[in-house]
Amino acid sequence: MAEYPGGWLERGGREPATDLDLVVLLLNSFDLLADPPDRLTDLRWFSEVLTEVGHDEIARSLRPSDLNDVRELREALRAVFEARSAEQAVATLNPMLRDAPAIPQLVEGGGGLTLRVSPEARGLAALEARLPAALASHLADQGVSRLGTCASPPCECAFIDHTRGSTRRYCCAPCNDRAAARLYRERRRAS
Ligand SMILES: [Zn+2]
Repeated sequence: MAEYPGGWLERGGREPATDLDLVVLLLNSFDLLADPPDRLTDLRWFSEVLTEVGHDEIARSLRPSDLNDVRELREALRAVFEARSAEQAVATLNPMLRDAPAIPQLVEGGGGLTLRVSPEARGLAALEARLPAALASHLADQGVSRLGTCASPPCECAFIDHTRGSTRRYCCAPCNDRAAARLYRERRRAS
């Protein structure tokens, strides 16, 4: 199994990952604690992860030549996570939604209608439309304070903060444990 911190595993990893989960998975394809840190030097790792999290339909249509565009998508999405203000996040996301193009469509099924973004898109087109749309929808609901990057150096992995008081600081349990151990050592040294 590919290694990756992200919200999908925290929810038990049984349902297919949401588009917002895919944002976090793509961002964390760069993980300073992984060896090598950048798993996006080709698309093998990311395709494997997409298949594991229930999105074979995207993985199957990715072409090796999509690599640069997937890397650019990762950088743009990371800029949203690192945005210092709502204005900065909007200035990054709105052009992405326009260029993709991210088109909402009604889809029938499961006894009702759901609104999904570019449901017929596959491969790179699906990623470029759906991931910015999922992040935009999250920002509209929750604001920019719910996006975080890990506070346990050297890790800089991204996460979505679902805690009630926006108190989350680490991307995953091992990073939390590492930070706690560091704090413990510092306190012992100080006393
Ligand atoms: Zn971390």
